[in-house]
Amino acid sequence: MTAPRLDIDVARIEHNASTLVKRLGERGISVTGVTKAGLGSADIAHALLRAGVSGLGDSRIENIETMRRGQITAPMSLIRSPMLSQADRVVSSANVSFNTEMAVIMCLSGCAGQAGLLHEIVLMVELGDLREGIMPVDLEDMVRAVLLLPNITLVGIGANLACQGGVVPDVKNMAELSALAGSIENTFGIHLGLISGGNSANLDWALSGADTGRINNLRLGEAILLGCEPLHRRPIKGLLGDAITLVAEVIETKAKPARPWGSVAQTAFGPLPGQGSMDVGSGDMTRSILAVGHQDVDPSGLQPPPGLQILGASGDHLVVHSDNNDLAVGDEIRFGLNYSALVRAMTSPFLWRERLADPEQEGQDSRYVHKPSREYRKYKRTFL
Ligand SMILES: *Cc1c(COP(=O)(O)O)cnc(C)c1O
Repeated sequence: MTAPRLDIDVARIEHNASTLVKRLGERGISVTGVTKAGLGSADIAHALLRAGVSGLGDSRIENIETMRRGQITAPMSLIRSPMLSQADRVVSSANVSFNTEMAVIMCLSGCAGQAGLLHEIVLMVELGDLREGIMPVDLEDMVRAVLLLPNITLVGIGANLACQGGVVPDVKNMAELSALAGSIENTFGIHLGLISGGNSANLDWALSGADTGRINNLRLGEAILLGCEPLHRRPIKGLLGDAITLVAEVIETKAKPARPWGSVAQTAFGPLPGQGSMDVGSGDMTRSILAVGHQDVDPSGLQPPPGLQILGASGDHLVVHSDNNDLAVGDEIRFGLNYSALVRAMTSPFLWRERLADPEQEGQDSRYVHKPSREYRKYKRTFL
């Protein structure tokens, strides 16, 4: 087995997704499975679809195109506002795109007309987080203009919070989105089928028992892949936090003086927040190096197994200390990841991404089953 690698357990991803689909379904909310951290992986897309998501969402047209080439025919939304330069690709691969700019929507209308297609759009509304969104006072004028465009269908409105400004989705801002939906429908005599309230950060609100109003969809990535909610990075009850793990290999273990010597200035990557702060005392301590670094993953987002401390990281090295001094060269260590570590690891060309087999198909515990080499060749073609 090669390292470093990401072990992607599709059965666990499916479990997380279907748990959330069920819980939110009881509240009248559908789930768009957000695939952007999966880099267009057809296996992850299939797992989400088996779990019952209503469609897939991705922020990059490249990933949507990869999934289309992977024979995924489910409805797909581009959840980042399209670039003008990619409008023709957006209408040919995505059913829906999320929009905030009239120039882009006009261009989508033109491209859809040329291709003989209808393109659906969701208008994103700014609710205070200050990332994408039309200011609420401007929404009505925008809708009026959109309704005049050929080959464009307005299917709903949406919002995104907690990504840029850290603004928490709550009863107040979600009620504002519901009210906007109602007022647009009244003014124009149309029905908005999709009111997409937000992302994984909306789960506390959505599952709290509060009135969900008109909100009937959430777009979920992190909660499904990592089993945690992003506001406080707490595990979500009933979900599995180890659907995706990173495995790295030990390349050096030696007893060395606990502190560096010589005159000390800045390191290559600066300190790791909250790490490297272990009291190392004086005298010797055993340090091990794993062959993984900033070029592969965000080291500050790695969760080491119990008894292991991360002392520091550079471009290609992760320095650790094991309480039991039990690491030998060649040993493999498995880490949990936060979202930042996951997206960096997914996009690193140095990581081997291994899909662990579906236990129902294999009749075994998926944690310990390795996929056949045909699968590896497929992954290599897709990702490396
Ligand atoms: C990434 C993204 C999501 C999913 O966010 P998670 O926190 O991973 O659930 C939803 N909506 C938009 C617009 C996004 O960019």
